[in-house]
Amino acid sequence: MIHAAASHRRDMKITHRMGGQAEPLPFFWNPSTVSTVSLSFPLEPVQRMTARPGVTPATVYLVGAGPGDPGLITLRGVECLHGADLVLYDYLVNSALLEHVCDTAELVCLGHHSTGRALCSGEIIARMLDAARSGKTVVRLKGGDPSVFGRGVDEIEALRDAGIPYEIVPGITAGLAVGAYCEIPLTHHEDASAVALIAGQERRAKTASWLDYGLLAEFPGTLVFYMGVRKVEQWSRSLIEHGKPPETPVAIVRWCTGARQQMVRCTLATAAEVVAQQAVRPPALFVVGKVVDRAPQISWFAARPLFNCRVLVAGSPGTSAKLRDRLASLGAEVTTQPAIRITDPADFAPVDAALGELDRYDWLVFSSSNGVDYLFRRLFDRGGDVRRLGRVRLAAVGSGTAERLSRYHLQADLVPEQFNAESLAQALAGEAEGRRFLLAGASRGRGVLAHELRRAGARVDQIVVYGSVDVQEPEAEVAAALDSGKLNWIAVTSPATARSLVRLYGDALRHARLASISPLTSAALRDLGFEPAAEASEHTAAGLVEVILSAAEANG
Ligand code: SAH
Repeated sequence: MIHAAASHRRDMKITHRMGGQAEPLPFFWNPSTVSTVSLSFPLEPVQRMTARPGVTPATVYLVGAGPGDPGLITLRGVECLHGADLVLYDYLVNSALLEHVCDTAELVCLGHHSTGRALCSGEIIARMLDAARSGKTVVRLKGGDPSVFGRGVDEIEALRDAGIPYEIVPGITAGLAVGAYCEIPLTHHEDASAVALIAGQERRAKTASWLDYGLLAEFPGTLVFYMGVRKVEQWSRSLIEHGKPPETPVAIVRWCTGARQQMVRCTLATAAEVVAQQAVRPPALFVVGKVVDRAPQISWFAARPLFNCRVLVAGSPGTSAKLRDRLASLGAEVTTQPAIRITDPADFAPVDAALGELDRYDWLVFSSSNGVDYLFRRLFDRGGDVRRLGRVRLAAVGSGTAERLSRYHLQADLVPEQFNAESLAQALAGEAEGRRFLLAGASRGRGVLAHELRRAGARVDQIVVYGSVDVQEPEAEVAAALDSGKLNWIAVTSPATARSLVRLYGDALRHARLASISPLTSAALRDLGFEPAAEASEHTAAGLVEVILSAAEANG
């Protein structure tokens, strides 16, 4: 499940994950994506320790996750996540960041403001120390910057006292992100020469306060209140009583940098009333000062075409990730439902046999980007390289598959005009007579292409290079999102996905509009009794984004 392109599947509970390592797919950096980043430049590596328990403690990394947008973590932070055996993360952390963690690592969410912490501060520290002592690399992932109202210091002191090695990785604190994502210039040459980050609610006392509101009222700059929702009445009144003009502009910013970012303007005099009227709940920041008036009505972030649009993306991991990243970069809040899990094929023997004689084929035909990845991964795993392809020509069913080939520095010799097996068969028919074709596909492929090519006189071998199995369990959070009626779109990326969605959620799917990737997917939906509201004219993730975008624009 993706929130601002992020999965919340593992939120709010202690989760243990086991399994294989993250996929070593080729990765090309695209700053607009939030997908898993493979870092290969010379940063100091975060080593997993293979220490003997009780002898050499591993390192604890206290990492700032940034304010919400998963693209705002530092590269060092990502690298620490890659190397972690145990990740202890706060509820404010966007769980999309957990995709940077290897599958074998254990993830522990530390609870929520309102639900109470799953672990108290002492327990968190004990957990960190135990894990580090047993040789596990620990990442303590904290929202924003670990040293800003994060109580990170308590944890560091405990590590210092215990003699456990640690490293602190800074993050972007929420108060400063307001400058970029709401376009409130926190300092301004005419309006504010300083910024103060203030705790709106202090841990310390019900009676005494560390804060001197007389000084704060005179502060020559912008005041940013964290944790200020519950005590807004008190701190705003105190400022006014100490002489701060009641008409001072205030911006209340909720979920800053997230897909649900909201900004409400008011004044110091009306802030408490607005919080009550609009039922503002944490996490929210209050920016107090003249600079608030310099922000445009709609920031670049909120002006993105799919801002406020909620989309459920269902499909195979690869297509879902691509869709999620594109939609999120346009501002949508994306939830993902893996409809299908991609696995190794049941038997590699036919794949290996075909790889052993690749140069005897005239054409190698791929019907999906997963097929490309699985075939080449097997080839490379067995010590081969692309020279094994020899003179074989490459056909791809669509531009997505061709693009995946290009990641291996291979150009498709043929991509049909319509991205489906029938068009591909038609395009290859003229070449087919007496030629040898190798079709690399999924365990549940359709067989149309092989049939058509054989009819045209070709010799065809088909190999299953990956398996696809249906996900059997509905996700609680997806079900809740569907039931809430707040989802705008469900992006359906294949006929198999359509069947899986209907099996998992049934009539709840009627609470949102269905966007189908292709006529075949639309036909599958109709067979199941669901009418798609839109169909992509280009049958790719990009085409699906395009059709959702056009509908959003048409709706204003
Ligand atoms: N270490 C964090 C702050 C933790 S205190 C940081 O550097 O950002 C928690 C408070 O931070 C929340 O109550 C809220 O006031 C603020 N906060 C954190 N993330 C926020 C966000 N995305 N939007 C608005 N406020 C946020």
